[in-house]
Amino acid sequence: MEKFDVVVVGAGLAGSAAAYAAAREGLQVVLAERGTQPGTKTVSGGLLYTHALGRMFPEFWRETPCPVERAIDRNVLSLLTPTRAASLDYFDAAYSQPPFNAFSVLRSRLDPWIAGKAEAAGAVPVYGIKIDNLVRESNRVVGIRAGDDEIRADVVILAEGSNAILSRGNPAKPGPDPHVVGVGVKQVLGLPPGEVERRFQLRGMAGTQYTTIGYPAGIEGGGFLYTNRETISVGLIFSMESLVRRGASMFEVLEEYKQHPLISRLLEGGSLLEYSGCFVEEGGWERLPPLVGDGYLVAGSAAGLFLNTGFTLRGMDFALESGRLAGESAVRAVRSKNPTAAGLASYRSALEDSFVLKELRAFRGYPRAFQNPRLYGAYPDIVTSLLHRAFFTDGSGRPHLRKLLSESYRGKASFLRLARDALQLSGTL
Ligand SMILES: Cc1cc2nc3c(=O)[nH]c(=O)nc-3n(C[C@H](O)[C@H](O)[C@H](O)COP(=O)(O)OP(=O)(O)OC[C@H]3O[C@@H](n4cnc5c(N)ncnc54)[C@H](O)[C@@H]3O)c2cc1C
Repeated sequence: MEKFDVVVVGAGLAGSAAAYAAAREGLQVVLAERGTQPGTKTVSGGLLYTHALGRMFPEFWRETPCPVERAIDRNVLSLLTPTRAASLDYFDAAYSQPPFNAFSVLRSRLDPWIAGKAEAAGAVPVYGIKIDNLVRESNRVVGIRAGDDEIRADVVILAEGSNAILSRGNPAKPGPDPHVVGVGVKQVLGLPPGEVERRFQLRGMAGTQYTTIGYPAGIEGGGFLYTNRETISVGLIFSMESLVRRGASMFEVLEEYKQHPLISRLLEGGSLLEYSGCFVEEGGWERLPPLVGDGYLVAGSAAGLFLNTGFTLRGMDFALESGRLAGESAVRAVRSKNPTAAGLASYRSALEDSFVLKELRAFRGYPRAFQNPRLYGAYPDIVTSLLHRAFFTDGSGRPHLRKLLSESYRGKASFLRLARDALQLSGTL
């Protein structure tokens, strides 16, 4: 049995950020990961909003090896029906200049890079070992157990991702809510050198991201397509309930998505390099678990820190920030020899002061708002029907746009419903 200051479970972004923050202050830190290498078990679409990583590693994009893929300067948000797409296409040249807005990333590159930073700061890597249990004494967490091995520590940081089995053992943590449990599925497809630039009309290291809703039919969630250096990431996140209703597997749903006429032409000829899927808990503010207990802290998606606003899908910057703050709070508790819940409480207040809990609170109505089936059926249908008729001209005497508008939503959603849904999405209900 060995004793350390801090044990971190999970070398994803939250775990490695926590281990780095604690180790650089001279604490003895173990970073435990079930994958043989960081990044072998993590699933993510791969759009990283830059700010949180930049706070820890300014100008990280200049490093060799470079942990990121493309600086995203074009964001396309599309409402899909089986044969149509109505898109909002936002290009911003400032997004591909320092300090940047978001990068596409591949976790198989990013995770080993940031875990390497933690190791260089002194964290001891223990990879290829799944942590089975927490060790408790008089209800206080005092370490971790893997098989017959035990590692003791003043503070355990749980950063095990969304399938948070160890954190779930906490009786105060709410069980999974079937209405907000989602699934995520993703592929990485390879293209010949230079093809990503040609196909997406990209210059240098700039990139494009697509976010979609409305297709496949009956699937309540969204799709994404991100350009990497020489690959494309494509996938979906959607509610488990809608998957069960469809009676399909998540892989079948992804294959259907890839056949959409807008998407399939972007993926043409891509060779499959990676395939992954996992659970996602989108409970948000309403279902935050206790983040601090006697001897432990919970960070990243183990704590459900994930925010989908429709425009942006964010978990990685939340993981990095919460991980860093957990590591810093562990340092304070170890130095003051008070790793109790009270001694670790500065973690919760640091999260309250950061974007993590401010944004989760501000968007607290969103997980419920996104359960609205009209977002995935009626609204894409209304908007694309209107645009179809607005652009289509066959000489038969097209009605005025006002009439087209009322014909497009008639029978699909009332004006009152529309206003109510708009209010709910704007967070006022
Ligand atoms: C399909 C999909 C698309 C997404 N797209 C985006 C996106 O575009 N942008 C964005 O910001 N977020 C996105 N997210 C969310 C984002 O991926 C997560 O919020 C983020 O990865 C959370 O990081 P984490 O470090 O908390 O957990 P993870 O990245 O899940 O890391 C957890 C680590 O813990 C390890 N682990 C788990 N249990 C144990 C154990 N018992 N013992 C040892 N090790 C263990 C795992 O192997 C893993 O390495 C997406 C999620 C999904 C599923």
